[in-house]
Amino acid sequence: MSITISVSNQKGGIGKSTTAYNLGAVLALNHDKKVLLVDIDPQANLSEYLGYEPDGKPTMTQLIMTACTGTVITPETVQIAVRHSEAANVDYIPSDINLANSETMMSTALSRETILRRILSEDNVKGYDFIIIDCLPSLSTLLINALTAADKVLIPVQTQKFSLDGLQALDSLYQQIRSAINPKLSMLGVLPTMVDRTNVSKKALEELHEKYGDMLFETYISKSVEAAKSSESKVPLCMTDSKLGNEYERLAEEVLSRC
Ligand code: ADP
Ligand code: MG
Repeated sequence: MSITISVSNQKGGIGKSTTAYNLGAVLALNHDKKVLLVDIDPQANLSEYLGYEPDGKPTMTQLIMTACTGTVITPETVQIAVRHSEAANVDYIPSDINLANSETMMSTALSRETILRRILSEDNVKGYDFIIIDCLPSLSTLLINALTAADKVLIPVQTQKFSLDGLQALDSLYQQIRSAINPKLSMLGVLPTMVDRTNVSKKALEELHEKYGDMLFETYISKSVEAAKSSESKVPLCMTDSKLGNEYERLAEEVLSRC
């Protein structure tokens, strides 16, 4: 049985895609896990990081549009949307800008919250240890779909001023989805990202600790240009001798022990 992790926070630019990519890569490269990364952000930063280039084959956009029309999604339909990244040694389903139109299509679809869950069903995506969904930065139907398809949610939080603002809304959505649609959903952990030596960062960490206690990962991700360099060169952080590479390795160990 695979474990599906949704990397979620409705704020943008806080390290979701960087975390989805590098956690996936470290689990695959250092821990021999079979990983599927799923991009559901129309901005497709994760797909780009993975080296995806449009190739005429279906992406997450076509899978969601097909499901919206009521067509049953078969393993064959999903398989042709799955690519492989040599660098990160993971499989992935890319996104593209047209996924932005899916919100409108989903608004009239039957059982619209469960579309992604049906696409990523055990039958359709077999043999993975981890499926990691990289969310878009908004409290949208796509985010609801990710939380409905997931077993666990990982929430990256940038340790800056106002970083805790908005977490209330995400917590409330998480609780609603647990009680109404997906009772097996649980919190994997809250991950402080872009931690630096400033007092602002220190204060945000204290607040996160107060609010989340044990749910906070012991591992913090530091602020470093290594992140941008890694996405530019498309080489996972764990493949370079880097501080962030070590931090993502420690995160993977915590994730494995929490699963
Ligand atoms: P999100 O997916 O939440 O929008 P990204 O992972 O795309 O965020 O990161 C946003 C930007 O910040 C990217 O340019 C990325 O390279 C950079 N970044 C990510 N993690 C870090 C980090 N730990 N330190 C410094 N910059 C980072
Ligand atoms: Mg992103």
